[in-house]
Amino acid sequence: MGRVGRRLPGVRWLARIDMAGPVPVHRPELGPCWLWTGETNEQGYGYIVVGGRKVSLARYVYERAHGPLPEGYEPDHACHDPRVCPPGPECPHRACGNLGHLEAVTHRENVLRSGAPTAINAAKVECLHGHPLTGDPVRVEGVFYPGGTIYVPPKRPTHRYCLICKNREAAEVKRLRRECERLLIETAGGAGEQLTFG
Ligand SMILES: [Zn+2]
Ligand SMILES: [Zn+2]
Ligand SMILES: [Zn+2]
Repeated sequence: MGRVGRRLPGVRWLARIDMAGPVPVHRPELGPCWLWTGETNEQGYGYIVVGGRKVSLARYVYERAHGPLPEGYEPDHACHDPRVCPPGPECPHRACGNLGHLEAVTHRENVLRSGAPTAINAAKVECLHGHPLTGDPVRVEGVFYPGGTIYVPPKRPTHRYCLICKNREAAEVKRLRRECERLLIETAGGAGEQLTFG
């Protein structure tokens, strides 16, 4: 039937998302993980088959919202903390597809970091998606005011983020939450088994 897929284009993957995952203990302000109930690989990472190719869940979710990552970058799970998480596939965060939990880092940063990437962006003049980083930092959580284009989370004062990307992320997280709720209502009506990924 594919009714849901046609009516809600691009959100069929959401039918495999459980938005009521665990809240990361070291970063409760991030809110719950969105756990992937679809396929995972041997390392425990969620993946989606897109056009015959396996794409990691994290990359799929990130690039849907922000566009392609530049060469050498990969999405990293901010909800993961190797100091408290079980090692390997047991860690629940590898199957997390919460857009708000994903940060783009270089592979090297991903290997080096331990849940605390420091002020690595401090000297950058634009974000990795090409937005200028200018003006005074904005420190208000939830509502992002115009002016500067640098966002500093109140709970992580040493970090700098692109405000344009953060705004886009916040809007998309809100939209996805709404779509997921709608999808749950629809699948409860019986269309759930018809969902396939393309
Ligand atoms: Zn997460
Ligand atoms: Zn973890
Ligand atoms: Zn940006």
